[in-house]
Amino acid sequence: MNAPSEFLNYGPDAILMVGLNGRNWRLADYVARGGYGALKKIIAEKIPPEQVVAEVKKSALRGRGGAGFPTGLKWSFMPKNYVGDKYIICNSDEGEPGTFKDRDILRYNPHMLFEGMAIGAYAMGATRGYNYVHGEIWAEYLRCEEAIEEAYAAGFLGANILGSDFSFHLYNHHGFGAYICGEETALLESIEGKRGMPRFKPPFPASYGVYGKPTTINNTETFAAVPWIMRNGGEAFLELGKPNNGGTKLFSVSGDVERPGNYEVNLGTPFTTLLEMAGGMRGGRKLKACIPGGSSAPVLPGDLMMATDLDYDSIAKAGSMLGSGAVICMDETRCMVRSLRRLSYFYYEESCGQCTPCREGTGWMWRMVDRIERGQGRNEDLDTLTSVAGNIAGRTICALGDAAAFPVISFIRHFRDEFQYHIDHKRCLVPAYV
Ligand code: SF4
Repeated sequence: MNAPSEFLNYGPDAILMVGLNGRNWRLADYVARGGYGALKKIIAEKIPPEQVVAEVKKSALRGRGGAGFPTGLKWSFMPKNYVGDKYIICNSDEGEPGTFKDRDILRYNPHMLFEGMAIGAYAMGATRGYNYVHGEIWAEYLRCEEAIEEAYAAGFLGANILGSDFSFHLYNHHGFGAYICGEETALLESIEGKRGMPRFKPPFPASYGVYGKPTTINNTETFAAVPWIMRNGGEAFLELGKPNNGGTKLFSVSGDVERPGNYEVNLGTPFTTLLEMAGGMRGGRKLKACIPGGSSAPVLPGDLMMATDLDYDSIAKAGSMLGSGAVICMDETRCMVRSLRRLSYFYYEESCGQCTPCREGTGWMWRMVDRIERGQGRNEDLDTLTSVAGNIAGRTICALGDAAAFPVISFIRHFRDEFQYHIDHKRCLVPAYV
C-alpha cells in the first residue's frame, strides 16, 4: 500500500471522499463518521425493501461504471419471488484506460462500499455477494480483505445481521487483469472459474447470472453512494446534481494537466471548474482534445469540451459519453494519430476474440492507424478506417466492439486534417513528433 496521503480533491458537496486521509479507512473511523448508520436504521425500522428501491429510484443515481443506467430501475429487475440464493456483485474491475477512481474508494473508504452492498442485498433479497477487484490492484484487494473481516466481526455482514433475520455473505474476489472481465457477463464467467468471455444476452444477469442465479451487478462508486442516499434521502441526492443526473461523481483527471488525480464534484459542474481544480493545463497550454469518459468514449475537440457541463446528458449532447468519468486531457503538443494508435492497440490486444468483427476489425484498424503514423498511410485509409469502425459498432456480442470503434470514428471526424497531413507529408504536423 502506498504511503498514506490526504485525499483533498473534492468540491463542497462531496459525499464519497470527504474527510479521508489514507489512515481513517478502518471500521471504527467509518462508524465515527456515521457509517453503517443507514443499514442500522433500515434493519431497526424494518423498512420494506421496496421502499429502499423507491428511494434509490428517487435519487436518480445512475450507474457509475460507464453505462449510466438508472440504479433503482436495475434493482427492480431482480425477481422478487425467486426461491433460492440471489446474488449481487460489485464490479470493481476498473481497467478502462484513464480510470482510477474505484481503487480510491477501495483504498480510502471500503466500508462505505460494503454498507452500500449490504443495503443493496437487503433491497433485492440477495443472500450472497462478490466484490470483484481488478487484477492489477493487489494492495487494494488486501485492504478490502481486512475491512471485510472487520465488518463480519462487528455483525454488519454474515448471518443474521445486527440480530435480524437478514443474512448477507460477502466475499472479495481478485481478478487477473483482463480488461474484458469488466464486462458484466465476462465477470460472471470469471467468478465461476472460467475464461472471461462475454455471454450472449438475453438472458440478462437479473434472471440468469452467476451460477445461473438471479444477479445484479453495480459499479463500486454506485454502491458506495447508497448509504448517503438512505441517510439523507433520494431527494437530497438528486438535488446535488441535476434532473436525471443525481449526486456527485468522481472524475479521474489525467493527461496534460498540472495536478492529475481524482476529483469529486457535483454532476452538472462545468468542465472548466474541474480543470481549474486540477490546476489547469500544464504550462498554461491550450486544451486541444479531451476524452471525457474513459478511452472508449468519443474524443471531443478542446473548445467544445470547455463549453460542456459534466453530466450524462450534457456530454451526450456534445457527442460523447460521461462513461466512467475518466477525463483525459490532451494539449496542443499531442499528436492525434499517435494517440489513436495507442488506443487502437489496446482494444486489439484486449479483444477476447469471440466475434469476428471485433477480433478481425480491431487488428485491421490498429494496423491502418499504425501505418499512417509511420508515414506509410494510403489515401483511401481514412474512409476505410471509418467504414471498418462503422461495421464493428453495434454488431458484436459485447460493448468492446463499440469501445474500439468510437475512438476511431471520432478522432477522424474531429481531426481528419491531422490524419490527412500524416498521409500527404509522411510525417507529423505536431513539431514535438517531427
Ligand atoms: Fe469478445 Fe470483442 Fe466480441 Fe466482446 S466484442 S465478445 S471482446 S470479440
